[in-house]
Amino acid sequence: MNEISIKDNPKVDGRPLFGQSLVELTILLDHLNQPPYRARQLHEALYAQRLTSIDDITTLPATLREALKSQNHTIGLPEIVQTARSIDGTERYLIRMADGETVETVWMPGGDGGERGDGTQAAEEEEHPTHDDDDYKRATICISSQVGCAVNCQFCLTAKLGIRRNLTPGEIAGQVAAVLNRHNVEVGRDRINLVFMGMGEPFLNYPSFMDAVRLLTTAMRIPDSRMTVSTSGILPGILDFAKETLRPKLAVSLNASNDVVRESIMPITRKWNIAALLEAIATVPLRPRERVTFEYVMLGGINDQREHADELIALLKNRQAKINLIVWNSGPDMPFHEPTPADVSAFQSRLRNAGIPAFIRRPRGRDIYAACGQLKRTLETPTPTLITLPPTPSSL
Ligand code: SAH
Ligand code: SF4
Repeated sequence: MNEISIKDNPKVDGRPLFGQSLVELTILLDHLNQPPYRARQLHEALYAQRLTSIDDITTLPATLREALKSQNHTIGLPEIVQTARSIDGTERYLIRMADGETVETVWMPGGDGGERGDGTQAAEEEEHPTHDDDDYKRATICISSQVGCAVNCQFCLTAKLGIRRNLTPGEIAGQVAAVLNRHNVEVGRDRINLVFMGMGEPFLNYPSFMDAVRLLTTAMRIPDSRMTVSTSGILPGILDFAKETLRPKLAVSLNASNDVVRESIMPITRKWNIAALLEAIATVPLRPRERVTFEYVMLGGINDQREHADELIALLKNRQAKINLIVWNSGPDMPFHEPTPADVSAFQSRLRNAGIPAFIRRPRGRDIYAACGQLKRTLETPTPTLITLPPTPSSL
């Protein structure tokens, strides 16, 4: 049956095909004496068609499909094993990797409001929705970059997991493919924004994060201008990021207006203080009209007062910046409380009056623990509304 000979006795490792670049696939198929165009067909099947089984890749001859399987290859797309749906349409997924580790990924139909005010095309669509829902579909997917997180921000539930491991490029981009498949999304027709704001610190898994960005842009055809990566302020990562030609937009979790407060809620400030952080951010070349987003989680009584707004204005006044105010999402056993609505809107007005674009990020999926900082693997989280749902075709 199998006439395909194997060249050079390649190591048979059964590494998932999803996640491999065109160059890697070309080498893999060359070992099976296949010409480069077969690698291009495989690449197309994995990333544009998003097929989930080798048997479905009918552009490849059956003998080649069998040869791949006999070498223990699988497509190896991460799998959605649990789903919880919020009353606001947000869905949170527990996604399982080949080794059984799980992360969370969030689907937010209609976007997450995080684009507003950054001057880009995605932001204009966010602020001026001219569509009706039938012919114009859009959503934001929030992706994890690590299993757990090592950064230990005091207000964040993910921090409680500690760090278990980095995700591979295929596992990062694979979350997107799994969610797009669930919703039958056609990239190009539907507007998909990606935010690297799930579990983990992308800049502590930098090479895999950037490899995933390359897969998502060049192979899966989602433009980098529709992606935003959020970092807690990992300086070497920011400096590397500044040199990339293909890159998402940058968001930085500032969360405080001075080093004393920041150190108390984000211990990483001891390593890199706010001044060093701002200096590194200034090295990132921006697109025309692009602004760096500064995320600011508002913690009642800690960083939400008038003096904090004034300090923040002084820090960001002459920069291409916008601020996303995020009302703290509570978690169990955390020594914080929400700011009052009056304090949040006074804070926003003060920034706006000083000429700094400031937006209040709509909390999404709070009832299912899918909102910012609430991602902690589903099975370990008290989620009374947790339900397992069948796939919903085309529910953008
Ligand atoms: N690790 C990256 C990206 C994931 S966290 C980072 O920290 O930037 C995404 C955003 O959620 C960050 O801006 C973070 O400050 C915010 N966040 C964390 N815990 C939160 C909580 N409990 N309530 C609201 N926002 C939170
Ligand atoms: Fe990690 Fe971000 Fe949570 Fe901080 S806020 S612990 S960096 S996931």
